[in-house]
Amino acid sequence: MAKEEILLVKDLHTYFESPRGTVRAIQNFSLSLSKKQVLGIIGESGAGKTTIGLSIMRLLGMDGHIETGTVHLEKQDILSLPETEMRSIRGKDISMTFENSSSILNPSDSVGDQIRETIRIHTNLTYKESNELTLQSLNEIGMQNARKVMDMQPRELSAGACQKVMLVMSTILQPKVLIADEITRSLDIITQAQISDHFRRRISKTDISTLLLTNDPGILAQLADTVIVIYKGRKLEQAPIQEIFKRPMHPYSFQLLRPMENRKLKTMRSESIDESVDPDMCPLVAKCQRAISKCRTSEMPQDTDINGHHQVACYNPISVAID
Ligand code: SF4
Repeated sequence: MAKEEILLVKDLHTYFESPRGTVRAIQNFSLSLSKKQVLGIIGESGAGKTTIGLSIMRLLGMDGHIETGTVHLEKQDILSLPETEMRSIRGKDISMTFENSSSILNPSDSVGDQIRETIRIHTNLTYKESNELTLQSLNEIGMQNARKVMDMQPRELSAGACQKVMLVMSTILQPKVLIADEITRSLDIITQAQISDHFRRRISKTDISTLLLTNDPGILAQLADTVIVIYKGRKLEQAPIQEIFKRPMHPYSFQLLRPMENRKLKTMRSESIDESVDPDMCPLVAKCQRAISKCRTSEMPQDTDINGHHQVACYNPISVAID
């Protein structure tokens, strides 16, 4: 049976204006997210993961804009909606969690007030009903003393507790799409495990489709079905989770996901080098050990489909399976 597509991003180009000129943060990026799928996007800090999320949410701020591209939520073109309509979609149909949740939450409102406000804006639940739903959700995520926490302000909570509050706020209304940005980064191992567990249970019990933005291959391996690897705002490879860990074809994916074998194969130079590269070319050409003359004379390679579910954008991909 064909999978039901919930979110479709096509040929996204997101640019920022800076004092040094235009920064092409995201170039020619596409993805398709189906119902209940967990699609991981992995890349180093600064690769553009958060910018992809903010582009979909239309929260780029004053300096950023979508130059070209389309974003469809269940076939509705959300880039062309008036901001008032977009506001009713954010938080209800698409939610985003952020890494630094303690600085995103309002420091002076109680946790209960902030979660209930999300419910109030988008539903007709009574105060009592939204209060019960809030308490139940905080308990489900493993928040200690949930009832007491509802009366506390975020500044009184640990980073892990704030992250749990943020995750509750973004999933309590069971959005169609959750954009989860580094949900476990900077947390202790126990809180990481609790959040991952909650995330898995929440996703399996609901129809939420998730974009999981991370730089941690471990979180990806635990939670994602499919993976996209990005570098400097460019999509390099996409494949199902097991396949991409077993058989990464892009030299950069290989370095990122199979670091032990990479010590022998050496796909990327580790020393720091001047990376000023023509923005239309492969962004890795200066550090890639597999670069061939075509890489230095041609534009960024297009996605090539390998077997119907594995795509790679590289002129000289790795072709051996690693057992
Ligand atoms: S296109 Fe060329 S430079 Fe870029 S990653 Fe592939 S082999 Fe390396």
